[in-house]
Amino acid sequence: MTVLATETRALFMLFGATGDLAKRKLYPSIFNLYKKNYIDQKHFALIGTGRRKWSDQDLRDVILESVKDSAESEDQANEFASHFYYMSHDVTNPEHYRALSDYADKLEAKYETEGNRIFYISMAPNFFGTVAENLKSQNVLSDNGGFNRLIIEKPFGRDYKTAEELNNSLGKSFNEDQVYRIDHYLGKEMVQNIQALRFGNPIMESVWNNKYIKNIQVTLSEKLGVEERAGYYDNSGALRDMVQNHIMQIVTILAMEEPVAFKDTDIRNEKIRALRSLRIYDKDEARENFVRGQYGAKGEQRDYRHEDDVPTDSNTETYVAGKLMFDNQRWAGTPFYVRTGKMLADKFTRIDVVFKKPLIDVFDAGDKDKSGLDSDVLTLFVDPVQKVILHLNGKVPGQGFTTKGIDLTHVQSDEDRKNTPEPYERLIHDAIKGDATSFASWQEVGRAWKLADVVRNLWDTEKPDFPNYTPGSMGPKDADDLLARDGNKWVFTLD
Ligand code: NAD
Repeated sequence: MTVLATETRALFMLFGATGDLAKRKLYPSIFNLYKKNYIDQKHFALIGTGRRKWSDQDLRDVILESVKDSAESEDQANEFASHFYYMSHDVTNPEHYRALSDYADKLEAKYETEGNRIFYISMAPNFFGTVAENLKSQNVLSDNGGFNRLIIEKPFGRDYKTAEELNNSLGKSFNEDQVYRIDHYLGKEMVQNIQALRFGNPIMESVWNNKYIKNIQVTLSEKLGVEERAGYYDNSGALRDMVQNHIMQIVTILAMEEPVAFKDTDIRNEKIRALRSLRIYDKDEARENFVRGQYGAKGEQRDYRHEDDVPTDSNTETYVAGKLMFDNQRWAGTPFYVRTGKMLADKFTRIDVVFKKPLIDVFDAGDKDKSGLDSDVLTLFVDPVQKVILHLNGKVPGQGFTTKGIDLTHVQSDEDRKNTPEPYERLIHDAIKGDATSFASWQEVGRAWKLADVVRNLWDTEKPDFPNYTPGSMGPKDADDLLARDGNKWVFTLD
């Protein structure tokens, strides 16, 4: 299937235009789309807003700086930057929205953007609702037949209740199909590849169930600690920061049924259906099925509680491992193990699909428990290298008959890597096209919070035994025990 590029005319409004995300990710991504003509090069403009008293030129200088390495010429960079305008804006002041609306009308006429408006809120989440409500009440939304779309960043709430309040607040101005909730993991090539591998290959899909799969493991491992984000992170923790969103999205794509057609509404329906089968634990089950950790000290590395801006009595988890179960025909009995943490051995994201061994090992004792056969494992390496390895059993060459593990490996070529867009570039392009496939819907987000809330509520009432893992390890021993209880082990270990 090929989805063709579309040149779309649009006026963007970016709230948080002076921020870190805008500079590092959004401007370079919009520039790449511009270069590829995925944004109509003549008929687009962006109004950036922020608290600072900047001029258009201040914003354009930032744009030029953030695209300087990828521009083909100075003229190209200048021409791109000339489409950017700045307005100093206080998100809580309705008058500022009226000024914004007038300015948008003016630019819309100048650039002939046909009433298509994309609002991107790249600000702290407590502002999302205020901005969205004012956009409608102060008539900033376009009403001449063009589209209005809203792109928002994570975090989407801190728990189910706040996420629902936020959603209700957005719902006053935007319909669900106009809201694009960014989860940048959904823009990663190998995460998108899951569906191609599953639904494009009968040999995969026919074994993609509890009859053949013993367990599935998803690991999002970070090598760094909290760095300068400690203030934010200590209020969030790994469960909210990584599990509720990125990990739950990946797991859902692994677990979902085949959509009727490969389009956003059908894919969303299947994701939601899978999440309805996700077992939401009670408190005791949550204690049994989730492990938390906080890193200690090692050599020069301070323990988490002595990082800058972290309280010395902080019980925030920097590591989570969990076991998820889907109570449906496809997955009953097959656990999905997930883990994520900071200060681990390395930075990588991988998915390991562990297949069951044959019921009888004909080569050895005839007994699968004493078998010398390896488990077949399909590993999808999401980051930093994109590759797929299928680990199978083969024969040791030569006389006699013994088996050994062999790997069928596909590594993304340099050419493919060059052509792979950054997640933000891909996702902004999707939003411009109106394709919501790789964005999280409210029902998905809500269901993921239901699970995370049970674990959070449990952890908030019980004192952890922190610190409990060493920097450079793969987390606390309890995370290994979680799998060992089921007769399983992590495919990636440091042993
Ligand atoms: P930032 O603090 O660098 O920027 C915040 C922006 O909001 C600034 O432009 C500031 O002027 C504006 N702002 C703040 N208060 C305002 C007010 N009262 N009125 C008008 N403007 C106001 O934040 P960031 O790191 O760019 O993050 C933006 C969003 O993206 C957040 O939701 C964050 O969680 C999310 N996010 C950021 C990253 C990242 O790498 N930086 C990664 C993932 C998600």
